[in-house]
Amino acid sequence: MNAKTPLETLQKENAELRWQLDEANDAIEAIRTGQVDALVLQSEKGSQLYTLKSADQTYRVFIEKMKEGAVTLNKDGLILYSNSSFAAIVKSPLSRVIGTSFGKFVDHDNCTFFNSLFKKSWEIENKAEIYLNDNKKRKIPTLISLTVIEIDDGTALSIIVTDLTHQKETERQLKLKNDELLLAQSSLEQLNNELEYRVQERTTELSLSREHFKFLADNLPVIVYTAKPGGEIDYFNKKWYVYTGMTIKESLEQQWQKVLHKDDYDRVLKSWTNSIKTGCDFNIECRFLRASDNLWRWHVSTALPFKNSEGKITAWFGIAIDIEDQKLALIQKDEFISMASHELKTPVTIIKAFSHVLNLSVDKDKNPRAVDYVNRMEKQINKLNDLITDLLDASKVNEGMIIFEKAIFDFNELVVEIIHEVQITSDTHKIELQLSKTCKVFGDRNRLSQVINNLISNAIKYSPDANNIIVTTQVRNDVLQFCVEDFGIGIPTEQHSKLFNRFFRASEVKSNTFPGLGLGLYISNEIVKRHAGSLTFKSEKGKGSEFCMKLPVYKD
Ligand code: ADP
Repeated sequence: MNAKTPLETLQKENAELRWQLDEANDAIEAIRTGQVDALVLQSEKGSQLYTLKSADQTYRVFIEKMKEGAVTLNKDGLILYSNSSFAAIVKSPLSRVIGTSFGKFVDHDNCTFFNSLFKKSWEIENKAEIYLNDNKKRKIPTLISLTVIEIDDGTALSIIVTDLTHQKETERQLKLKNDELLLAQSSLEQLNNELEYRVQERTTELSLSREHFKFLADNLPVIVYTAKPGGEIDYFNKKWYVYTGMTIKESLEQQWQKVLHKDDYDRVLKSWTNSIKTGCDFNIECRFLRASDNLWRWHVSTALPFKNSEGKITAWFGIAIDIEDQKLALIQKDEFISMASHELKTPVTIIKAFSHVLNLSVDKDKNPRAVDYVNRMEKQINKLNDLITDLLDASKVNEGMIIFEKAIFDFNELVVEIIHEVQITSDTHKIELQLSKTCKVFGDRNRLSQVINNLISNAIKYSPDANNIIVTTQVRNDVLQFCVEDFGIGIPTEQHSKLFNRFFRASEVKSNTFPGLGLGLYISNEIVKRHAGSLTFKSEKGKGSEFCMKLPVYKD
């Protein structure tokens, strides 16, 4: 950087002023003591040579050229001679300066000091800083240099006056800058101290929260792990080491696949890589080897990304919960349901048969009440039978044992048949039917009628305050679509994803108001899937639902 700052310029000018003053003093001294007899002076006309032959005249010219003020005083302090620079410094015409006491130009506050200096200077040379006043009594800082000189009429005191206004201003600015610098330095120091303190505090906080996290993680009854944003696992809690028997080194060297079942390995890796890539939650069931008994146990492992304020993933936090016991319990439950429904099926079928016989044998005219009782009994037996059938079907679906007897049949005919039957038993709702041109389907007629029945009976069951439902069939691009629309209680959006799960019932549904086991849709969905079709729905809480089944049309 070549451009000088104003501060640097001022410092330079100040140094030059001092140098000029010293040089002027030296020159005067040289002239006074006769060490030189010629001078070269720089003036506007260029360099000029002055000889000291006509010393007085030349000396005066020289003095006139000086920037510094120069005066000679007599013993009374009266100004005998003044150059025009001094007159300019005190801003008074020369005529008023010469013959005036020098003391009149000295600032009031410096008068005593000047008087004693004046006295001393007749004995010994002196230099001092004092304030003079200009014609408007403004203070002018000056440096005065007092020397006794010999003149024709005896001795006189010469005073060289250097105007320090510029220099003082420079000093003032320097001081100002210096103060600013000191201030900046001290606030920097303060900031630094504050920063250091905060860093220390944060470090303590961090190590404390890390300790807290470890304490918590180590005392949880599940496996806890954390991973870097790139997926590399960098922490396991105590439970992991106890369960797997692996060392910290092995675990952190990512050798955890040693204890992951080989049949689950690819699936887990694929899902983990996908989560790392997309930032989606990681959730998978897999088997880990337990060191204590060398048994593979099912775990559900879940990891969530931890994001900073900018939404960038900075770590993954995961847990793996041992679900082996729950899995076994589920299997036992399924076995129990399957066994119990099998066991119940036979007596219920027998009761059903006997109630039918009883119905036929009761004399309707003689004993109308008995007829009523038997009818009610048959209705309940049918319900019980349906429940048991659902339980058996659900077990079959779960075990993948459901068997289909497929044939070609007219789909619309089946719909009409079912609606006719349903409409007889339901006097609360009118079923509006909108059928497309007829079409054939290749499938299990009984199983598909089970689906149709389930969708229609749900529509009626879950719209107690409505009085109609709409059933439609449509054929488009060789796909048959069968839909059932109701205007009932609907299903809250957050529960949509679970609707086809086994035993799922929406939270709004109370079993005493809406009886059911939560198996109908689970079974229906499986039946439709096994016919290369799909079951979908749209539903809004409080407004109603529409369930649609799509099936491929059979083409001859
Ligand atoms: P279930 O009716 O015996 O409970 P489903 O499997 O047929 O079993 O239905 C599962 C759940 O889905 C029901 O409990 C209910 O919460 C909800 N659901 C099914 N159909 C409808 C519908 N048409 N309107 C509102 N909710 C429904």
